[in-house]
Amino acid sequence: MGTDKFVSRHIGPRDHEIDTMLKTVGASSLDELIEQTVPSSIRLEKPLNIGKGLTERQYFRKIHDIAQQNKVYNTYIGMGYYDVITPAVIQRNVLENPVWYTSYTPYQAEISQGRLEALLNFQTVVTEMTGMELANASLLDEATAAAEAMIMLFNSRSRKQAKAGVNVLFADENMWPQTKEVLITRAKPLGIELQFGDIHAFECNDKVFGVMVQYPNSNGTVECYKALTEKVHANDCRIAVAADLMSLALLTPPGEWGADIVFGTTQRFGIPMGYGGPHAAFFATKEELKRQLPGRIIGITKDVNGKRALRMALQTREQHIKRERATSNICTAQALLATMAGFYAVYHGEEGIKRIAERIHSIAFQITREVEKLGYKQLNADYFDTIRFELPEGVKVEDIERFSLDLEMNFRYFEDGQVGISIDETTNLFDLNWIVEVFAKAAGKDVPVIGDFSEDLAVKPELARTSSFLTQDIFKKYRSEAEMVRYIKKLERRDISLTHSMISLGSCTMKLNASTEMFPLSWIEFNGLHPFIPTNQALGYHMMMDELRSDLSEITGFADVSLQPNSGAAGEYAGLMVIQAYHESRGEGHRNVSIIPASAHGTNPASAVMAGMKVVVVKCDDKGNIDVDDLRAKAEEHKDNLSNLMVTYPSTHGVFEESIIEVCQIIHDNGGQVYMDGANMNAQVGLTSPGHIGADVCHLNLHKTFAIPHGGGGPGVGPIGVAKHLVEFLPKHPVVDNGRKGITAVAAAPWGSASVLPITYGYIKMLGGEGLTESTKMAILNANYMASQLKDDYGILYTGKNGRVAHEMILECRHFKAESGITETDIAKRLMDYGFHAPTLSFPVYGTLMVEPTESESLQELDRFIAAMKSIYAEIKEVENGTADKEDNVLKNAPHPAYKVVADEWNHSYGREKAAYPLPFIRENKFWIDVARVDDAYGDRNLVCACEPIESYMED
Ligand SMILES: *Cc1c(COP(=O)(O)O)cnc(C)c1O
Repeated sequence: MGTDKFVSRHIGPRDHEIDTMLKTVGASSLDELIEQTVPSSIRLEKPLNIGKGLTERQYFRKIHDIAQQNKVYNTYIGMGYYDVITPAVIQRNVLENPVWYTSYTPYQAEISQGRLEALLNFQTVVTEMTGMELANASLLDEATAAAEAMIMLFNSRSRKQAKAGVNVLFADENMWPQTKEVLITRAKPLGIELQFGDIHAFECNDKVFGVMVQYPNSNGTVECYKALTEKVHANDCRIAVAADLMSLALLTPPGEWGADIVFGTTQRFGIPMGYGGPHAAFFATKEELKRQLPGRIIGITKDVNGKRALRMALQTREQHIKRERATSNICTAQALLATMAGFYAVYHGEEGIKRIAERIHSIAFQITREVEKLGYKQLNADYFDTIRFELPEGVKVEDIERFSLDLEMNFRYFEDGQVGISIDETTNLFDLNWIVEVFAKAAGKDVPVIGDFSEDLAVKPELARTSSFLTQDIFKKYRSEAEMVRYIKKLERRDISLTHSMISLGSCTMKLNASTEMFPLSWIEFNGLHPFIPTNQALGYHMMMDELRSDLSEITGFADVSLQPNSGAAGEYAGLMVIQAYHESRGEGHRNVSIIPASAHGTNPASAVMAGMKVVVVKCDDKGNIDVDDLRAKAEEHKDNLSNLMVTYPSTHGVFEESIIEVCQIIHDNGGQVYMDGANMNAQVGLTSPGHIGADVCHLNLHKTFAIPHGGGGPGVGPIGVAKHLVEFLPKHPVVDNGRKGITAVAAAPWGSASVLPITYGYIKMLGGEGLTESTKMAILNANYMASQLKDDYGILYTGKNGRVAHEMILECRHFKAESGITETDIAKRLMDYGFHAPTLSFPVYGTLMVEPTESESLQELDRFIAAMKSIYAEIKEVENGTADKEDNVLKNAPHPAYKVVADEWNHSYGREKAAYPLPFIRENKFWIDVARVDDAYGDRNLVCACEPIESYMED
């Protein structure tokens, strides 16, 4: 880490290349280009008030000092978060490996077979542990997974129930408080009535559509819910169960009693607590409910040659297709964490996981025995890891707390003065002695010395799991570190990530994720903290987060920022709920119309529907801009009920619309609030801002603009910035005082995915105000450079009034089909042969490609991509003019996998060289593809979403 300015490492083009690029673009200076691109009416008057950029070394020292302010105690609070041992082989080769963390969501299956397999393993772990038929590839956290379960049960009511307006979900009161609160948040706008109560007193009635319980429950008690499940089913209702995945190694899995949905967190499978996240939630259900399953599902199919291949299944269920008919708004999930949890199970296998679970349980049992000898009463009749003590007469809970803090331990304190202990994988003999010591001292008794672990087990036969799990080959083969690292590397080689070439996905902003930004994730001072510890043990976190909130407020032009939402879509939901709370506070809670342009991302209408809105779509004109007359007409028509406009800026068409200030004005004049989708913030930072433009709320995708890597489909962070009048409505938290008094929580953890926030913090601190602004300008230059190179061949669909694009552009591809039969998909697949990930396909305009180069790509890399696109254009022309066959050509047959290129048999009308080495630079850095084009329809007709018992290849 030298003394270089970070900005010169973050930005691709070198200073001397900028002039050449400007000449190509036809601008005399960078500032002139920006003036031609960004309307002067919205430009900021002042530079960002964010200090000078630090060098990488300076930042490293700074974040290290901040880390020292966090105190890493042994924490036995439980409540959904447990200390873990992340196997070092997974930490080093997955979490700290840019191939895994910089890849994109596996929409392009042929170059994503590695992470698709890792996620298939994850789904298999979930179905095996829960005893369910089908699982998805992760959700955001346990609490939002509970909300998804509630909504899914609601939407799969019988026709009779739906007609009769049956709308009650009965949930056991003994669920995590954060789960209950997110259920409350999510139920209200959908008209679902939530009843919390004692599950033992629950009687089915014709108002109830579903039941939810937690297993083990929030006190740590384990009960079998088989009889309950039967009763619920007999009454035409369904049951969802929040389960602790680790406990299911010992306890009968809910699938075996007939549960309809099982969900929870996989944090215990090797993912650090991270002061709240990120962790992958799991969600499993029955085959019969597969079309209602939210999130992404990985499934097995075959490629055009019959080779086994993986891909995302049943995509028509996803919100981006369903839009205002969506039943979930989940988009970015927790792919990287799911990948890690899957590998954890691969590494440990059934025996390893059983051993870990048994040890956790037996330590809890041993502590129970020892502490009961001291006169305390343990209250959980049956338990897995969590025990709860009633204190004897005269023993003060304050003493327990004091003695435990002296030994750097955190216990859980129930409201009634009882004390909870949740044991985890890391608990050792010293810890056991220290825990008992606290109880002994508080009772004024001698401290016993426990010399060894007890072998006793206490799971009753009626509760014990008898079925085996993780019986598939994959969970047996990789137990030594050498085998494991080779398996991880084998999968890694099947994936294109930013370590191979640029990923020019429009709207996704796949920029550099700098190594220095990533370091703190591996430090125990950041990842070893439980989210519910006393705040004074997390002072470093709070210093960092306070500064980050203030910097993000400056960047967005808003008064404050909430860091709670775990994705862009979660931010949209939070922002809309904040807007609703504001309307309600003014006696206008009836406002429920959300105006959304036709070009919006699918999460916008989906989030609006989840927030109880009626979506009104506004047209775009033939230049791609919001049709202002249509907007005005619709705003006026709905003015009595207008809640908000959801607008992306610059637009999803890659243009800075001149009308934006007028658009905001129209909405405000009609009583609405302006919600800005900040996914395109990379074109705004330092030049303009949502607050300056006149928006009231905006979410940021820290995993796009602010350098958090995509992780193959998550984690994400979707903070919302709000104007002053909305600050009081920002989300609070039921367990930890996060300083808010607004809407109920939207996520399980008070500050969402806190442990990845240092990435964004580092990004901002190292670029500084000037570097951030420079990055925006360079993102715009790179896009315009690419547009001017590709416009003659492809055509740029939309530009601003001076012919400029913003930070991304839409390439026209629709005419090729009529002329040559070549589609946008063929182009996307052919790009793989050139070593590139396709740009965004068919969004926001069907039949096109949307390219976003970002500021991080160098001129050489831009030129390679341009050369590939031009070469593909020439290949299309060959088909068009008859030089190449209409069917048997490099585009229709793309991509060309390694096994085809090396096969003895080759019967195409073109050569192998043209197939695999179409341009000279590819020879130096060939990405060998694992499978030919995958057959999506076959996989959807023959749905298989877990590993087969024995790996099978080339069936046909
Ligand atoms: C990525 C994106 C979203 C959704 O964000 P997630 O983090 O995936 O939930 C919303 N709107 C636009 C325009 C986007 O590009």
